Amino acid sequence: MTYEDLMSRAATAFQSGKTKDIDFRRKQLNALLRMYEENKDEMARVLAADLRRPKQESYILEIEFLINDIITTINSLDEWTKPMKPEKGIVNMMDDVLIYPDPLGVVLVMGAWNYPLQLPLVPFGAAIAAGNVAILKPSEISVNCANFIAENIPKYLDNECYHVVCGGVQETTELLKHKFDYIFYTGSGRVGKIVYEAAAKHLTPVTLELGGKSPCYIDNTVDISKATRRVLWGKFINAGQTCIAPDYILCTKEIQDKFVKEAKVVLKEWYGDDIKKSPDFCRIVNQVNFQRLTKLLSSGTIAVGGKTDADERFIEPTIIVDAKSTDAVMQEEIFGPILPIVNINNAFEAIKFITARDKPLALYIFSNNTNDRQTIIENTSSGGVCVNDTIMHLAVDTMPFGGVGPSGMGGYHGKYSFDTFSHKKSCLVKKIDTISEKLSNARYPPYSDKKINY
Ligand code: NAD
Repeated sequence: MTYEDLMSRAATAFQSGKTKDIDFRRKQLNALLRMYEENKDEMARVLAADLRRPKQESYILEIEFLINDIITTINSLDEWTKPMKPEKGIVNMMDDVLIYPDPLGVVLVMGAWNYPLQLPLVPFGAAIAAGNVAILKPSEISVNCANFIAENIPKYLDNECYHVVCGGVQETTELLKHKFDYIFYTGSGRVGKIVYEAAAKHLTPVTLELGGKSPCYIDNTVDISKATRRVLWGKFINAGQTCIAPDYILCTKEIQDKFVKEAKVVLKEWYGDDIKKSPDFCRIVNQVNFQRLTKLLSSGTIAVGGKTDADERFIEPTIIVDAKSTDAVMQEEIFGPILPIVNINNAFEAIKFITARDKPLALYIFSNNTNDRQTIIENTSSGGVCVNDTIMHLAVDTMPFGGVGPSGMGGYHGKYSFDTFSHKKSCLVKKIDTISEKLSNARYPPYSDKKINY
């Protein structure tokens, strides 16, 4: 099928009105849930094939996440699709004031390879719930997961309304020439700009879920042993290939020494003496990223880890101490298992360091000093903040997840995902009778000062 045929089929499917029907949407969402539940093992297998992802990480971070998300969506569908009745002023006391969540039309969802099931499928489910026709483009880099999606979506969902397109740069470039009613993109800022530019040609609105360097501030008021475990977990799950992984640490030299000491103990406890042999540590997705990351290992002083194996695309969990802002590792988002520590003396220096750089996707603060915490939160801008933990704010589905400035635009999760794929259509319903017409009279000519009432 050519892209022209695909777009025309998608447009016809939307015009048929099929996806607007709430029961149809519910059936499709239930089918998606069935797809997840019947293929848990297969999903774990394809994730392992692409990233050597341990089963437990796959379950927590993708499979259970997808299942919980779709269950919430199904259970909330009636409430979310109902027109909202906002407050109204005295002028509209006799009227109905309604906001309809209208489907947008034909939407495109483009996912990234690092969470290759969850990242494309969560927004895809939301697009269905909101009544759209959806085209899904999984990342070609995580080929096993892309194939799983391409094989299973047509088996479970309506073939006219929901489509999967596979391919890389060439296919994406072609696809983006077409007019969509919404584009939801997850990936790098570099490609985000290409997507945004292509969308602008058709005045298509977008959500861009991008990345960046997410800082992690640690002070001496927290239990360093507990803080270390939480930071290392957030950094080393998926071998650091997480958009909201703590990218670097900001702390004093004293905290740095304690952190490194604790980290050695924790990493040994989690992965044993030879981390390469541990079944619980992922691999880098491809050689391009492996080569990019190994170059970063020449920055600063390696205090923990540093071993690599190109054949396996293995990079040991690595901590770099005394990193300088001019080091290569501090120039770009790391997106791998390398954790530099930059020394600062206090919360104010941390704020200065953070605000001198691009607004990050996540900001982590480990501190029990509530004044310092508040000062950092109020004087920095980031997609989200998590205090005394890492990653877990993403799992609170009553909060929007997304970036700001270079880390992205728009947010999703829970109801925010549904809203992303809906147009809020305002509708005023007035009475047309003698009394309401009398009230309307004041706005009609002939005008007079009496009518203005000054
Ligand atoms: P990417 O932007 O390099 O690639 C994404 C997709 O874009 C690819 O699958 C490819 O098909 C397409 N693409 C690549 N080059 C293209 C081109 N020239 N023209 C048209 N399409 C093109 O991103 P990635 O490497 O998959 O992801 C890494 C980045 O994504 C990191 O910065 C990370 O932080 C970010 N990310 C963000 C989130 C989030 O939720 N905010 C989640 C995961 C990843």
